[in-house]
Amino acid sequence: MSGQTLTITPTANPGPGPVAPRMLTGDRPTGRLHLGHYVGSLANRVRLHKRYESFFIVADLHMLTTKNSGQDIAAVRRNATEMVLDSLAVGLDPAHSVFFLQSAVPEVAEINLLLSSLVTVPRLERIPSLKEMARDAGKKEMPFALLGYPVLQAADILAVKATAVPVGRDNAAHVEVAREIARRFNRRYRPVFPVPALIHGDVPSLPGTDGQAKMSKSLGNAIYLADQPEEVRRKVMRMYTDPARTGPGVPGTVEGNPVFAYHAAFNDRPAEVAGLAERYRAGKVGDAEVKEKLAAAINRFLAPVQERRAAFAADEGLVPELIVTGTERTRREVQRTVADMRDAMGLTAAFTEFRRHARLVPVPNVGDQCDVDQHR
Ligand code: ATP
Ligand code: MG
Repeated sequence: MSGQTLTITPTANPGPGPVAPRMLTGDRPTGRLHLGHYVGSLANRVRLHKRYESFFIVADLHMLTTKNSGQDIAAVRRNATEMVLDSLAVGLDPAHSVFFLQSAVPEVAEINLLLSSLVTVPRLERIPSLKEMARDAGKKEMPFALLGYPVLQAADILAVKATAVPVGRDNAAHVEVAREIARRFNRRYRPVFPVPALIHGDVPSLPGTDGQAKMSKSLGNAIYLADQPEEVRRKVMRMYTDPARTGPGVPGTVEGNPVFAYHAAFNDRPAEVAGLAERYRAGKVGDAEVKEKLAAAINRFLAPVQERRAAFAADEGLVPELIVTGTERTRREVQRTVADMRDAMGLTAAFTEFRRHARLVPVPNVGDQCDVDQHR
């Protein structure tokens, strides 16, 4: 994967922005990070994070759009810790990464509200990923908050004036909404936001072990970065392959086969993968051998990740400290952005005028008011 080049959607009008380019991306604290996160977003985060000022959001307000029970919320602390450890384990340098908890930056909610007048309901209703999320969460009707998911994501991105957003395919349409909103704000009021570039993952959507189009925490079809070798092997051996293939002697299909999608993404021995694919097509290899080699390849990939994870986990105070300092730093940035937005929109001007007027013409207090009324 390291040999692949980055695809960056060009921005016609980068607009104003911070001097150092900024990256913002992150995950909902609904569980630990998995292989899908790695190829969809984490690999790009690792490659880019030292070139940018890099903000990583623990998106607990986004979690509420489909998961809002007391239990879900109570799990945020543990899940956030696991996610940050996973991020450090894959190679993010804590000295170059600002991790923050979304709900601890309340100004994000204000930005969300200010931006929500810049997008229409039909525009949001046309986004297929939102319908998929509602379906996967077992919702019969679209929750109001879920329809607004892309607007809240735009608020996260624009809150730190990010210029780059590395995300997986299910999230690409949301970044497009953020780009539209940024342009619209800049045109309607005055240029405040850079138009953020979408950075595509190496694999736009890694399938689940059950053959579904997307590996996802919520679908129970994931191989986690922290899974131990035996667990990885167990999950791989049960993986969905070519359903038409009834035995090792039957020619099989490689394209669209999740086992080969994983080989392509994680096996560091391309000659082995090419040989297995050729024998699979010819009906000359059993599923078991293809899967054994895949489990071994994933475990080779995960071994150094887990070694780094254990080293970071041994330092118990590290993750809370990173989240607290990162959140405080982010909040200061976001407060500046809110002030810029209010100023550009003229919202501060109205109140300033009221204040000036209030000082010129003192308002009688309530008691005086009664007296005035009696003398009418
Ligand atoms: P949930 O089920 O709670 O929505 P998730 O597994 O979909 O969890 P998110 O936190 O929603 O994970 O996604 C975080 C980032 O990882 C997003 O940029 C998303 O596009 C990317 N991503 C998640 N799953 C995959 C996948 N299977 N393939 C590629 N990218 C993925
Ligand atoms: Mg998701």
